[in-house]
Amino acid sequence: MNRRDIYNKYDGHCAYCGKKIEYDDMTVDHIIPQSKGGKDNLENTIPSCQLCNNQKGNRSVEEFREFVANIVDVLDENKQYRLALRYKKIAVVKRSPIVFYFEQTKEK
Ligand SMILES: [Zn+2]
Repeated sequence: MNRRDIYNKYDGHCAYCGKKIEYDDMTVDHIIPQSKGGKDNLENTIPSCQLCNNQKGNRSVEEFREFVANIVDVLDENKQYRLALRYKKIAVVKRSPIVFYFEQTKEK
């Protein structure tokens, strides 16, 4: 398995958030985590930025989708977040379905 092949799958983008990533900054995510029996091969690996990979951790893709979707609910409980909203330091967040980059883009 070649890191470059994984990087090229999505033309240098994080397969989850779609952010353009430098080759050296790419982390290799296992779609099915190895801790859950996922294989360490090209089919089960996907390029990921450090933030997405760190937050996905040992989650499956569906668990990660749910985690990202629920961040808004977690933020609602944070007073500094609510204060930032009230003073318009941040925009109202959208509650929309999470569609990962790899679901919008064809693998190369
Ligand atoms: Zn990402």
